[in-house]
Amino acid sequence: MEHRFSKKDYDNGIAIIGGGASGLMASVIASAAGVPVRVFDRNAVMGAKILATGNGRCNFTNTKQSMEYYHSSDPKEAEAVLGVFDARSVCRFFRDRGVMTLNKDGWMYPKSQTATTIRDTLVFSALRNDVKLLGNKEILGITREADGSYRLHLEGFSYRARAVILAAGGSAQKQLGTCGDGFRFAEQMGLTVKKPLPALVPLTVKKDPLFKAAGVRIHGKVSLHNQEGKQLQEMEGQLQLTDYGISGIPVFGVSQEALRRIDAKETIRAVLNFLPDFSRGEIEDQLKKTFEAGISYDPLDTKLSFVLSGIFPEKLAAVFIEKAGGSSKMTLTELKALEEKDYHHFVREMAEVIHEYHLTVTGSRGFEQAQTTSGGVLLSRLDPKSLMDGKNPGFFLCGEVLDVDGVCGGYNLQWAFSSGYLAGRGAVDYIKEMDNYDQNR
Ligand SMILES: Cc1cc2nc3c(=O)[nH]c(=O)nc-3n(C[C@H](O)[C@H](O)[C@H](O)COP(=O)(O)OP(=O)(O)OC[C@H]3O[C@@H](n4cnc5c(N)ncnc54)[C@H](O)[C@@H]3O)c2cc1C
Repeated sequence: MEHRFSKKDYDNGIAIIGGGASGLMASVIASAAGVPVRVFDRNAVMGAKILATGNGRCNFTNTKQSMEYYHSSDPKEAEAVLGVFDARSVCRFFRDRGVMTLNKDGWMYPKSQTATTIRDTLVFSALRNDVKLLGNKEILGITREADGSYRLHLEGFSYRARAVILAAGGSAQKQLGTCGDGFRFAEQMGLTVKKPLPALVPLTVKKDPLFKAAGVRIHGKVSLHNQEGKQLQEMEGQLQLTDYGISGIPVFGVSQEALRRIDAKETIRAVLNFLPDFSRGEIEDQLKKTFEAGISYDPLDTKLSFVLSGIFPEKLAAVFIEKAGGSSKMTLTELKALEEKDYHHFVREMAEVIHEYHLTVTGSRGFEQAQTTSGGVLLSRLDPKSLMDGKNPGFFLCGEVLDVDGVCGGYNLQWAFSSGYLAGRGAVDYIKEMDNYDQNR
């Protein structure tokens, strides 16, 4: 494709660091206004992370939007950004470019159920507007020139631009190109970065018999409690038990809060409820019913964990039995042999464990397994209408590099698109204002 802009034009244009979700969106919006745009990415291909999203299906936004789904030190500013190019606008953006969408209880996917659709739509929209997408181009540093323009430093050469959009992402999954460079560049420009921590990540816990149930996936509720026993957060969904701790969407959902507090040296407990629709008393009654049915019908050398397999996977049931004071191999005969008060005590203990299984959270599986970063560049110094740095005219930021992160459900891509849109539009307005100023001088 022949490009309309000459090298000189590009020197007058916008340089975007990072060709991920936010950088590509910013490039499409800015180039649509006729401004020359270049996108630099250290990866050979653009949007590598988009391809990994939603298990390869890309959950690109959510129709249910409210600040309860996001974390930020500046929630008012974040809300203002999210309100301009909102979930409806994001859906329209893709539909206008031929993408049919699929709504799964508010979680939005491309109908094709493949993330390539979203990545390619962004890439082709950028190429159609003559955006130069430059892969294998790692930015090593940024400096501000005496004339107010910016110089991007690469291996062996540098490149000048009138406006820069920093869209380099966070620190999650560096194999996809993101290793925290954006935070370093922002700090070099004098911006404040809140300590980046992994988020949407499996949690590690103090060694526990529950590790023996590794591999089990089960519906349940996880709640976080502090040292004083105060409940901080809870989330329900499919829990995944592992040999190091807990994972799954509800665990991802509480991981941000848990890790921030652990970083502040608080002791955090995760309490799992494996039958969240039942009270402790109802669980006790159900256990008695199940055991009594077992005692009446089964051969009496049957293991209790097997008798419970209509409620829980066997290896999880074995853990509950052990926690209640029995042996994981305990049989119906052994249960029947218990004195009545010991039997009731055993069943009560087991109901208690099923209803409130306590674990001490020690940390997480780190940025290697995190889906996003919590923390990042504070919004407070940025103009919420354009995401331009108040102290460096022409320097814009968007995406995960900023101190906004969402829970699972398409919220992080929504943030990337909302902030990318504003930064792209802001950079165009800035360049146009400079042009008017130059012409009127
Ligand atoms: C496995 C996984 C699944 C996910 N699933 C979902 C989901 O279904 N829904 C959802 O909403 N969110 C999801 N997310 C989160 C979401 O993908 C990110 O929050 C979002 O992509 C961030 O967009 P971004 O543009 O800020 O950064 P990125 O998309 O990470 O892009 C940043 C780009 O900058 C480049 N870069 C960095 N430093 C440099 C440098 N020095 N020089 C040149 N280039 C550089 C990187 O190579 C990268 O391509 C998922 C994340 C992961 C890891």
